[in-house]
Amino acid sequence: MSTSTSSAPLVHAVNVIKHFGSHQVLQGIDFDVSRGEVICLLGPSGSGKTTLLRLVNQLEKLTGGRIWFDGELLGFTERDGKLYTRNDRDIARQRAKIGMVFQRFNLFPHKTALENVIEAPRQVKGLSKKTAITEAMALLDRVGLADRANYYPSQLSGGQQQRVAIARALAMRPELMLFDEPTSALDPELVGEVLAVMRDLASAGMTMIVVTHEMAFANEVADRVVFMDAGVVVEQGPPAEVLLHPQHERTKSFLRRVR
Ligand code: ADP
Repeated sequence: MSTSTSSAPLVHAVNVIKHFGSHQVLQGIDFDVSRGEVICLLGPSGSGKTTLLRLVNQLEKLTGGRIWFDGELLGFTERDGKLYTRNDRDIARQRAKIGMVFQRFNLFPHKTALENVIEAPRQVKGLSKKTAITEAMALLDRVGLADRANYYPSQLSGGQQQRVAIARALAMRPELMLFDEPTSALDPELVGEVLAVMRDLASAGMTMIVVTHEMAFANEVADRVVFMDAGVVVEQGPPAEVLLHPQHERTKSFLRRVR
């Protein structure tokens, strides 16, 4: 059970800074995501979008700033005004509430679609095989792949593999889904089927942060678009404002290039 109130942001990031060696990739990002909100993160390659997602999912460590998720500080616990690094088990507990879908589908190649989907609920949540299979079949049905449950990734198209990857992330019943350019490795004719699944998920009320170059999707599905460049948030707002009436020259020139 979450102890936070439902009106508090699900993600609350303050002055997030990230260096890789001497390269400062994030320059102090303030970023909130409300429950049920769909955010599309836009910006040129190298602007730090993936790094921000990976920090939220604790695949990277912060150089500076803080991120709260579901009312809890990520990476640290606060006791008597002091910060202590969380142990691995605690970090795993936090990460289990966040699903992530990558550009490359990252399925286990030697496992079927169904086996990929039941893996984490069995290993991390300790679900019985029977319960895990029942839930996984419902998820594969939701992404339109119930009839491919026993196929291996190599027997599936890129779009089908990505839909299995989405089902696999959903199997942990996440409170937040992160998508890192989920369609950019796909042949153009397979992009639509993945976006359709993401659109359904958004309509069902899932909180989502989506890094994408699919402007039509962002325009239609996002509650808010956040435009980043060179490690800062340049502007953000409803898609109708940012995409149609961008205020900043950097946003304007990016949109001219991707359209
Ligand atoms: P985007 O997703 O907007 O394309 P990234 O977050 O992937 O941007 O990358 C931002 C910058 O950080 C890039 O210059 C990239 O080369 C650098 N970077 C990302 N990950 C690493 C890493 N593990 N080590 C060193 N540099 C990195």
